[in-house]
Amino acid sequence: MSDLSSLPIATTADLDQLRKKIRGWQRDGQRVGFVPTMGALHEGHLSLIKLAQERGSRVVASIFVNPAQFAPHEDFDAYPRTLRDDAAKLANADCDMLYAPLASDLYPDGFATELKLGGAAQGLETDFRPHFFAGVAIVVAKLFNRVQPDLAVFGEKDYQQLLVIKQMVRDLDLPISIIPGPTLRERDGLALSSRNAYLSTKEREIAAGLHEILTGFARDLANGTDWETAQGKALAKAASAFDRVDYIEARCAATLAPLPAGPVDRPARVLAAVWLGKTRLIDNLAVG
Ligand code: AMP
Repeated sequence: MSDLSSLPIATTADLDQLRKKIRGWQRDGQRVGFVPTMGALHEGHLSLIKLAQERGSRVVASIFVNPAQFAPHEDFDAYPRTLRDDAAKLANADCDMLYAPLASDLYPDGFATELKLGGAAQGLETDFRPHFFAGVAIVVAKLFNRVQPDLAVFGEKDYQQLLVIKQMVRDLDLPISIIPGPTLRERDGLALSSRNAYLSTKEREIAAGLHEILTGFARDLANGTDWETAQGKALAKAASAFDRVDYIEARCAATLAPLPAGPVDRPARVLAAVWLGKTRLIDNLAVG
């Protein structure tokens, strides 16, 4: 861990320091917005900071590469860690504070609590990363307890994650407003992601195809094509463009429940996860 006091934004790994600062703001009647991240920040993350600022709040960002949401064979060790650059970007964006806790502090010896998630956590990502949402939910619940923000912003880029967090907040009566942030994209449609750094030049060219395929899928559904036919078409395109397709599906936008057979008769979302070499890309779009 680099020397946090030398970073260009007020940064702490210490819970007491974090709480003191935040309670001070809240005592002064200021709202506190929270943007949890795993770092390697890009414009998508910074757009969430801006959204929290537009809600009139002080903003705390966190950077924590959460071991609990990676399976042993996944990219925890390779995940980009760029704390100094991230701190500069946050300072530039007028973020008020960076919280960068240590794993040994969040998960001390003897930590043994797990969360079991149903509803929006069922299917899609869970079919391929069964450990994932339990890991996300436990760290977000802990961070919410530590920061105690008035609002928290999550990206629609991770649409299933957004719904899982909303569901957890509702089910556990957490007094935090969850604000969705739209997905920021490159000019060719590729959703910004810290994992895009893994892509080779060739893979980067192919990667933009995911947005194009999802756009066509969403358009077919909006035009009244039954979802089974539209999904078949999207799947065939994705299978020829990518090395592997985990899923490409249309679901109910509010709950992620499967849709009844035939044309789509309610707000829907198309969602996909595909592989290019060792890189897994996820993306989604609203229908209509
Ligand atoms: P991560 O650091 O990738 O876990 O993401 C932290 C937050 O940034 C999550 O709420 C993500 O959904 C959000 N996010 C990631 N990529 C984007 C993007 N391209 N546009 C907007 N938000 C994003």
